[in-house]
Amino acid sequence: MGTRASELLRVVHENPDITRADAARRVGIGTGAATELVARLTAAELISERPAGPAGRGRPTTVLQPHPRGPLVLGVAFAHETWRAEVVQLGGEVVASDGDEQMAGAYGEGERILLEVKARLTRLRRRFRGRIRGMGVSVPGLVAMDRLVEASTLGWSGLDMGILWPNAPVVALGNDATFAASAESCRGAAVGAAVALHVRVDAGLGGALVESGRVLTGAVGLGGEFGHMPFAPDDVHCPCGARGCWGASLDGGALARLLGEPAPTEPVAYARRVVARAARAGAGSPEHDAVTAVAARLGRGIAGLVNAVDPDLVTVGGLGVDYLAAASRALDDAYLAGLMAFRRKDPPPVLAAELLEGGPVAGAAEEAWARLWPLLPT
Ligand SMILES: [Zn+2]
Repeated sequence: MGTRASELLRVVHENPDITRADAARRVGIGTGAATELVARLTAAELISERPAGPAGRGRPTTVLQPHPRGPLVLGVAFAHETWRAEVVQLGGEVVASDGDEQMAGAYGEGERILLEVKARLTRLRRRFRGRIRGMGVSVPGLVAMDRLVEASTLGWSGLDMGILWPNAPVVALGNDATFAASAESCRGAAVGAAVALHVRVDAGLGGALVESGRVLTGAVGLGGEFGHMPFAPDDVHCPCGARGCWGASLDGGALARLLGEPAPTEPVAYARRVVARAARAGAGSPEHDAVTAVAARLGRGIAGLVNAVDPDLVTVGGLGVDYLAAASRALDDAYLAGLMAFRRKDPPPVLAAELLEGGPVAGAAEEAWARLWPLLPT
């Protein structure tokens, strides 16, 4: 596809309901060229036009929107205990979804889970009769060179995620925290940030640094494993094989240790239950103390990262949102105490991710779109 056609599609995708005149300006083409290009993309069933609002003064223009028979992508996100799929049209709107259910007994059962999810995805693809043109898959694990290297908290390793859709025209595989960071910078709380730091707490802790909208993933895609920095005492054992990992000091397992309860089999759901119990039991209760402690550990580690990488804002996702809501004071105090003194006057804000649990799946769909642009015929 021509660069301009590709560029126009991207502009329409990033600015839903943009007028033809504005889109032409962004692409840097004149009115005549825009008319011709839009006609071509409409004939190819990629976009369509409708009149821009009620007739007013000035020259009439049109609004560019997804074509009713246009291409779609599939975003799929595996979390540690649940999975979700979304069918997304140009512009980012979700037109169908599936999943949002517990993956019972998922530990070490990756192949079985993938086959079950594959059947559901096939049903979604049939429903849209060939319109779904690519797939992004988010996993809570290490991804390098488009392969799942390991998801240690799920006990999955070396899985070929391609079996979810054999021979898919486009498959983008990525780490959940990386995708969440990317989505937060595209459509969430970090839009427009020069350098945004995203920290996501799930059964593990990960994140990414995003510079001017571009996610820094490392040489082979394994960057952002912030949870495995040794910010915690040596007696914290992490499923990754290291000791003192920050992530393992503030997840559901850490809450259970603080409360003297057995290690939870579903640490994320367990952590949310503890946060709810803490809210009911109030200050002075063991639950409240435990939640306050993990929130402070989160804030302290974020301070270390802010000192190291100098972001203009920080977003927290996953359980981090729950910790921030339940114990913002403890998190803030630990954050400020951990910052170098010169930063405390004007610290980068620590915000809840706007996309909440939808970040990884939205990021997966965005990555599929990014890979699809050059492949769409016009
Ligand atoms: Zn670790």
